[in-house]
Amino acid sequence: MTLDPTTASTPDEIRAALATLRADDLPTHGGRTLSYVYDSGIAEADALGREALAAFGATNGLDPTAFPSLARMESDLVGIARDLLHGPPTTVGTATSGGTESLLLAVLAAREGRPDVTAPRLVAPSTVHAAVHKAGHLFGVAIDLVPVDPVTCRADPAAMAVAMTEDTVLVVVSAPSYAHGVVDPVAEVATEAGRRGIRCHVDACIGGWVLPWLGRDEPWDLAVPEVTSISVDLHKYAYTPKGISLLLHRDPWLRRGHLYASAAWPGYTMLNSTIQSTKSGGPLAAAWSVVHAIGLDGYARLARTAREATLDVARRVEGVEGLEVVVAPDSTLLALATDETCDVFTVADEMGERGWLVQPQMSFAGQRPTLHLSLCAATAERVDELMDALAASVTAARSAGPVQVDPQLAAAATAIDPSALDDAAFDGLLTVAGLSGGDGAVEVPRRMAEVNALLDIAPPALREALLLAVLDRLTR
Ligand SMILES: *Cc1c(COP(=O)(O)O)cnc(C)c1O
Repeated sequence: MTLDPTTASTPDEIRAALATLRADDLPTHGGRTLSYVYDSGIAEADALGREALAAFGATNGLDPTAFPSLARMESDLVGIARDLLHGPPTTVGTATSGGTESLLLAVLAAREGRPDVTAPRLVAPSTVHAAVHKAGHLFGVAIDLVPVDPVTCRADPAAMAVAMTEDTVLVVVSAPSYAHGVVDPVAEVATEAGRRGIRCHVDACIGGWVLPWLGRDEPWDLAVPEVTSISVDLHKYAYTPKGISLLLHRDPWLRRGHLYASAAWPGYTMLNSTIQSTKSGGPLAAAWSVVHAIGLDGYARLARTAREATLDVARRVEGVEGLEVVVAPDSTLLALATDETCDVFTVADEMGERGWLVQPQMSFAGQRPTLHLSLCAATAERVDELMDALAASVTAARSAGPVQVDPQLAAAATAIDPSALDDAAFDGLLTVAGLSGGDGAVEVPRRMAEVNALLDIAPPALREALLLAVLDRLTR
């Protein structure tokens, strides 16, 4: 599979090598991968997306006057999203590389919009996506994390109001949250933020292209006048190739803080609306093609199909002894938990053996560990198979019993201060955790329950440090 870089390989050699490389990956289509990928099940739309991705792959969004096609497609998509998400005519938007970049820019714009605040802070529910933490980290905005209601898993508006201060430049809510799939009380939180002159961002990265068709009573988007910005990922439920999200602002001035120019060098004046400067037009052209290939009526159908499948799975999970739904889903995401007879990590491994990816989520802030399922239109045809696999996986996990962590290891995991560890200590820890492939390399085992159970009892800071050590070694 390794090709010799000193001479040109033939097209057939390259195709064969790529096929070999892909063989170890998760399937991107077929509806059995319940996170990371989104499958509409519409082969024609996928083909158009791939065609456009290839055709525009070499165009450069660095300069929209050099490639006006990109500016036109971006405006068209923003216009569609503005109407869908009830933005007023003043709404502006930017195509970004993904949900994380949209959130980064929302936080940056909010910080830049308040030059009077020397130590900017943002307020968010404890369920907010990790990308918001990344934004705070990169842009020096401190985060006041407010516990969600332990039963509904939704943001607590009263507690969030208490957390808002003179230094708060942004309040974030989710529609829905990734981990639990529930929509925060957007209007209540946004109204209070607006009353204090604070911006409010709705992270609709995963729900923004589904919720519009589910007939919700409560407004959750730009229909709420105090919501100042909203993000929606096209590479999720608009089923477009990876690399595109939209960030909408209620008016151009709100966006101003994430536009960037530099004339402080001898080259061209750099003029960017996003973090990237040179950027491929491929994902934008692909998204434009897929959105028009499916059409809003098509999305209405896909959203309802995925929603019905989600409700069906939620209902049938209640009949699986040992398994339960954590909270009734508002969209197409489900969080499942086990009782004490088994553990979610073993269930995830068992599902993997049966060809299904369900994503384990670690315990956090008093919430138990769960399994995450993002249901797509393509999974809807396979709900019976999914339920059979889940029932069999839970049965296997129950007969194995809950995964045990060696008590000594558990004691060590809670006592270690990750900031005091050097590289050699990490090598030792990875070996103890069962992640060592020898010679300082890492090897991720096929069955992860024991590793996950250990990570689950580790404090989040140690969890982060250990996984960073893995990432570092995987890419050395
Ligand atoms: C996926 C997601 C993000 C991050 O998006 P990426 O495209 O993975 O960068 C942010 N917020 C929510 C709610 C998400 O589901």
